[in-house]
Amino acid sequence: MELDFKDRRILVVEDEERMVRFIRLNLEYDGFQVSEALNGVEAINKIRNVLPDIILLDVMLPDIDGFEVLRMIREISTVPVIMLTAKGEEDDRVRGLEMGADDYITKPFSPRELVSRVKAVLRRTETATGGTHGLIEVDDRLKLDFDRREVWVAGELVNLRPTEYRLLYHLVKNAGWVVTHDQLLTKVWGYEYRDEPHYVRLYINYLRKKIEEDPANPKYILTERGVGYRFVDFRR
Ligand code: CA
Repeated sequence: MELDFKDRRILVVEDEERMVRFIRLNLEYDGFQVSEALNGVEAINKIRNVLPDIILLDVMLPDIDGFEVLRMIREISTVPVIMLTAKGEEDDRVRGLEMGADDYITKPFSPRELVSRVKAVLRRTETATGGTHGLIEVDDRLKLDFDRREVWVAGELVNLRPTEYRLLYHLVKNAGWVVTHDQLLTKVWGYEYRDEPHYVRLYINYLRKKIEEDPANPKYILTERGVGYRFVDFRR
């Protein structure tokens, strides 16, 4: 099955503006929505706010190096990451993969290589998770559209706050699996909040009030006592 990659959000983390322009031009031509971060700090902020579908991450950055950025990304997200490495730096490629990168591209690269690598990684990761794109019909009552950032309950558009939305996104992305309090804290709120589990409880309650028919007896967001939460496995 050929996946349609149009409108996928890609974040390019690279300080060389010529390289960013080259990447942007070629990926936009293929329908990707490209945003950019010129350093590591900007990258982490963008990832928290935008939830890109894939990240191109250069190893050589002016502030925090690419490996450190990768480590920070992996604390908050499983988003696919392709490292951009310099020619001849064999160690960098291995190190990136060991730290959780999904692939690497060695500079210099052709437009064709860039686009085919990005698509290959998306194909691999999206089919593995079932994808979180397009209209997701959990059941007749609850419908989600993460492309448009819309949540529909019984035919009505529900207004979620950004944190509620991010929380729902991470739960649905892992539907059928338990997501721990710690994982939700670091993925939704950030690493510095990992000692404050009451945030998770509070926002799970907000979310249940907005999407569950009976928030006291939830059907979608299930509690795994002492561990975390599990979004119902609606894909089976
Ligand atoms: Ca660079």
